[in-house]
Amino acid sequence: MERDGEMTGQKEIFYIFAKNFKKMAFLSEDLVFGPIHSRRLGNSLGVNLLPKVGKICTFNCVYCECGWNPEHRDGKARLATPQEYEKTLEEALKSLVGTPKEPNSITFSGNGEPTLHPDFPEIIDITIELRDKYVPKAVISVLTNGTNIHKDNIFKTLQKVDNNICKLDGGTLETIKKVNLPNVKINLEQYIEDLQRFEGEVIIQTLFLRGEHDGQKIDNTTEEEIGLWLEHLKKIKPRKTMIYVIDRETPEKNLEKLSANEMSRIAERVKALGLEVEYYA
Ligand code: SF4
Repeated sequence: MERDGEMTGQKEIFYIFAKNFKKMAFLSEDLVFGPIHSRRLGNSLGVNLLPKVGKICTFNCVYCECGWNPEHRDGKARLATPQEYEKTLEEALKSLVGTPKEPNSITFSGNGEPTLHPDFPEIIDITIELRDKYVPKAVISVLTNGTNIHKDNIFKTLQKVDNNICKLDGGTLETIKKVNLPNVKINLEQYIEDLQRFEGEVIIQTLFLRGEHDGQKIDNTTEEEIGLWLEHLKKIKPRKTMIYVIDRETPEKNLEKLSANEMSRIAERVKALGLEVEYYA
């Protein structure tokens, strides 16, 4: 998942160099890390349910700050159990409560797609319990690529969190495939219907970019793409839409970052639909 937060000298997130030293990626070393300062979420205590050593994701986004999917795997990856997670989160919250670093958000992001953890529903229940006990004002945020929301248990679990942040990186399936390089089947119409089932209790996040990958042009900023993307938003009626640009090192180097002006123009078009939008340029 794209990193939530900024590099502010935190030791918990650091550069891991790929074995060939040609590429760098942000990988979360710890199960619970930070808090880091997030433009979106304030003091954000991160949760990485996936291995420390490499990403596990149903997408392989051209802009993924964790690098390409096969990088950094050493074959020894083990996922934390709910019990290990509970202990780690409780210790972190105990040490932070009442300090200037008290979290405003407990944020699931980390090295891949958090809903792929087999105990994700139980882990969210544990998080809610500990949040209520130690930091009742904090929100729980999940950054997901949305590929599991068709599963009833994942859908119901995401309904329990404060910020259910789902990805929609284009207007057409063709472009979404070029940006996200999914390794699962995507049915865009079905995905939009699944997002509608949240009845507005969903935040849509979209990264706008132009570039090239494997000799193919990628552009989710054409009039056709943005027009269709806006049509999807009209149907989904998200509580908020967050649009952003490339912020860090990306595995595909041939990508262009949009200007603040261009982002502002896209944001205005979302606002014109009567929808809330935030943009990060
Ligand atoms: S959804 Fe995309 S950006 Fe997020 S972890 Fe997966 S590949 Fe990376």
